[in-house]
Amino acid sequence: MLERLKSNERVTLIRVSVSDDACPVCFSLQGAYPKDRAPKLPPDGCSCPLGRARVFYEPVLAEIFP
Ligand SMILES: [Zn+2]
Repeated sequence: MLERLKSNERVTLIRVSVSDDACPVCFSLQGAYPKDRAPKLPPDGCSCPLGRARVFYEPVLAEIFP
């Protein structure tokens, strides 16, 4: 998924979106990153419930203003 976002020219930033029940490690990653700085998910030390990281990549798309 991350590779696909990176190769999409309309994607300017990769946002890391975190659920309310995510662990502190995941919470610390919340934010928007340049494509080449996007953190690996799930992060090392993740302790989210059920061993499933509650974090997601979200593309930030370039807006075209008239
Ligand atoms: Zn986590």
